[in-house]
Amino acid sequence: MQSIEEPAVGHAPALSIVVPCFNEEDGISELVRRCSESATLAVGCDGYEIILVDDGSSDGTWASISSETSRRSSIVAIKLSRNYGHQVALTAGLSAVRGGIIFVIDADLQDPPELLGPMLEVMKDNRADVVYGQRKSRTGESWFKTFSARLFYRLLERFTDILIPVDTGDFRLMSRRICDIIVQMPERDRFIRGMVASVGFKQVPFPYDRQERYAGTTKYPLSKMVRFAMDAFLGFSMALLRFASVAAMGMLLALIGVTAYSMYSWLYLQVVPGWTSIMLTVILCSFFQLIALSVVGEYVGRIYLSTKNRPLFILDSIKRSEPR
Ligand code: UDP
Ligand code: MG
Repeated sequence: MQSIEEPAVGHAPALSIVVPCFNEEDGISELVRRCSESATLAVGCDGYEIILVDDGSSDGTWASISSETSRRSSIVAIKLSRNYGHQVALTAGLSAVRGGIIFVIDADLQDPPELLGPMLEVMKDNRADVVYGQRKSRTGESWFKTFSARLFYRLLERFTDILIPVDTGDFRLMSRRICDIIVQMPERDRFIRGMVASVGFKQVPFPYDRQERYAGTTKYPLSKMVRFAMDAFLGFSMALLRFASVAAMGMLLALIGVTAYSMYSWLYLQVVPGWTSIMLTVILCSFFQLIALSVVGEYVGRIYLSTKNRPLFILDSIKRSEPR
């Protein structure tokens, strides 16, 4: 993955705020104002940078971002060559951070920047590497969005091998070491909240109420939502690949039942000649096809996981006893 190497300007800030922006022209100045205020309160006026990533917007987002760079000293503006999608835009921002703590927030102010201070407290008190916002409520969103999001997070929890907390977006604080690991993961179909969960270390929830959008409309139409859900399921769960194995087990039960019934009918009831053998052949063939599919599925799953190149393990720390 290409990393964005900024020439080092001055000292590294304590905090980097990363914001992916796609067609958000009307909200940028309010976003920057509120983020700056919260960051100044938390780490002082020289202690932060705000990284705004324009994900190939077609409106005046880049102009708004550029005008912020000329007005304030804490802004890093990144413009992607086209629209790559939320998760890639966020990764681009994460690859440019210089701070020790990273605050990820959406551009639409649905997640209040004022929670930065309290979240930093939670991070410090718990010695946590991640403090993730967990939505208690969502205001101003359609019933469909709320319902589909609730269902999505619960299905994900049920079917993934990694514990991905429910009702959690990308609004979070994370330590630099988590950020670096996420940026180094080369997988293309990225589901960052799942990737962060998979890294481990201490991760604590921060319950909050999600607000209405400050301006504009959602940049996640149904097609993008479906693609996002597919990335999450295919990237973190082998459930769909294992479907053939589950079906094969079901078929085995049917095979036993139908065999018993066919034999009984053949012995004691009147059946059309050839019916028993056709029944047995059909069900045996289906069973073996499903078994073959599930074997192929298992191999494909393993190849798929290997191509992701996720680290085999991540060390927290090593201690050695002192030599005598
Ligand atoms: N976004 C982006 N690229 C996209 C779609 C969205 O960078 O292709 C940004 C968007 O500007 C916002 C964040 O991702 O900052 C989340 O998008 P949105 O608020 O529209 O999603 P929702 O909250 O409706 O799920
Ligand atoms: Mg939003």
